[in-house]
Amino acid sequence: MKQVKTMVAALAAGTAASVVCAGLYGDTPDAKHAWAVHDRNRPRPAIITADPGKPPSDAVVLFDGTSLDAWLAGNGNEPAKWKIIDGAMQVVPGTGEIRTKESFGDCQLHIEFATPAKVEGGDQGRGNSGVFLMGMHEIQVLDNFDNDTYPDGLCASIYAENPPLVNACRKPGEWQTYDIVFHQPIWEGETLKHPGTVTVVHNGALTQDNWEFEGMSTHCTRRPLKPYANKLPLRLQDHNNPMRFRNIWIREIPSRYANTTHGGPAANEADVKALRGQTAAKLFAAANPADANKVAALQRLLEIVGYDTADTYMKPVAELTDAYLKELAGLDAQKLQDRKGDIIGLRNSCNVLTRNKVVPEDFKLKAELQRIINENGLEKKK
Ligand code: MG
Repeated sequence: MKQVKTMVAALAAGTAASVVCAGLYGDTPDAKHAWAVHDRNRPRPAIITADPGKPPSDAVVLFDGTSLDAWLAGNGNEPAKWKIIDGAMQVVPGTGEIRTKESFGDCQLHIEFATPAKVEGGDQGRGNSGVFLMGMHEIQVLDNFDNDTYPDGLCASIYAENPPLVNACRKPGEWQTYDIVFHQPIWEGETLKHPGTVTVVHNGALTQDNWEFEGMSTHCTRRPLKPYANKLPLRLQDHNNPMRFRNIWIREIPSRYANTTHGGPAANEADVKALRGQTAAKLFAAANPADANKVAALQRLLEIVGYDTADTYMKPVAELTDAYLKELAGLDAQKLQDRKGDIIGLRNSCNVLTRNKVVPEDFKLKAELQRIINENGLEKKK
């Protein structure tokens, strides 16, 4: 809040004509961050509509209760052989799994399911199905309401890998929800760069907390992760129980680990550097170092330097610094007082650059502006 006030004060101190932008403000981009703190050049997220209980406007609706058009049977091109009954798709035991026609990668998935109201069987034989993310990683679907089994095979487990944090199962026949956030493993050739993760919320309770995959979906035998395509169909299992599903929608999301649009701790440093370079070039193309308003021109250039300290940008900064300091040298004390908003604002931008070690502490523009501020008492309170 304090900094917001400082920025507003800097704007207010200068005349409208002399201060075009408030100057540098938050910490600058770094090796892991393509954007400064509070960076207004940072891309805005897409605007969508999202109402609780409904698919967000950018979701792909996979089943809305009316048709199985988004699904195919097994591995061929035959239509899905499950039935639609009262707005729900129901497994027809023995017809095999179904898969989406469309392929997906990292995603947010919402799916609702109900285990049979008529309880039959026990252990893994009772209300069994499964949500296979990219067809590779099974989030178990099972009736574990008063039905024990091995923990890594419970409902909301990552099957054969990790039990759920809690057993949040509802009674047989009652509708239940999964909200899943999935990130696929990242490979460089045969080298695993990140194992991928899954978060599962079962009936509103967190059951898988950003779990890092150890392997491929399996039974009995551990299978290490292996590379697969970047996009694959979602699959639902036929485990010989008449399970029901409804309200299925999916949203593709950017990789949590290879996303450089927004950067962050998981960003690839080379990609971040490249994006910073692109931003600097874009801003420089729009900047006008020859602007008669040298303060505005310098503020723009200092912002660019925050992204990239290439000579292409540092050279005009040095030239404009000399021109601006020459201009100030010709002003009397009163005129310097009149311009103190500009001078302090520019010095403040330099401070951001020095505190982030983008430029050295003895950066000429900062040192000279500070000298002028001190000699003329520009920061003295009246
Ligand atoms: Mg299963």
